[in-house]
Amino acid sequence: MLVLHTLHALTLVSRPDTKCRDLLPPLEGEQPRWASLYSTLVPRPVRDISWRLLHGAVSTGTYLVWFTPVPDTCPFCGVRETQAHIYLECARLQPLFQLLTYLLLCFSPHLFIYELPIRGLTKLRDLLVNLFLLAKTAIYKTRERRLADGVSCDCGAVFRSSVLSRIRAEFLWVASTDSLDAFEERWALSEVLCSVSPSGSLCLTF
Ligand SMILES: [Zn+2]
Repeated sequence: MLVLHTLHALTLVSRPDTKCRDLLPPLEGEQPRWASLYSTLVPRPVRDISWRLLHGAVSTGTYLVWFTPVPDTCPFCGVRETQAHIYLECARLQPLFQLLTYLLLCFSPHLFIYELPIRGLTKLRDLLVNLFLLAKTAIYKTRERRLADGVSCDCGAVFRSSVLSRIRAEFLWVASTDSLDAFEERWALSEVLCSVSPSGSLCLTF
């Protein structure tokens, strides 16, 4: 057993921490924010999508073409489909990235892929990571739907819908437990997404 552990440790030590270093060379001192994937605030399916992206475990067209009779092109625009194309380059992502830029004022591919912490309060960082994870989930789900049914969903609209659903669900939960302060700290920062009125009602602003 000790030998096995030693062999695996030696193998893992020599491997890069993320395949994304090839896709998007990190800037000085950058590294993935792995801890964000283990937050209890993040649903497991959402975490899994981001984990797979960081490890390069994405079933792209250029990968699937080795095993299945499908084309290696993007099902939306016809360009050769790599991981970078799916999550950063496809033209269909522009409405989503514009939404993120509007919300965060500091969107960049490095922030998006590595979920890097930004300067500011810890709660603000948690909100940023939550939004990035929901955005990646919207990209993943709309692509899966396109592959399965041929349906073309606007991933920006799906993202907005999932953020609002999450806010409404969390608000209903905290309202029932009388902990609105915690909700405001998590979701109502700067009132960009929502606010809570003095009477305790939810006002969506996104
Ligand atoms: Zn495309």
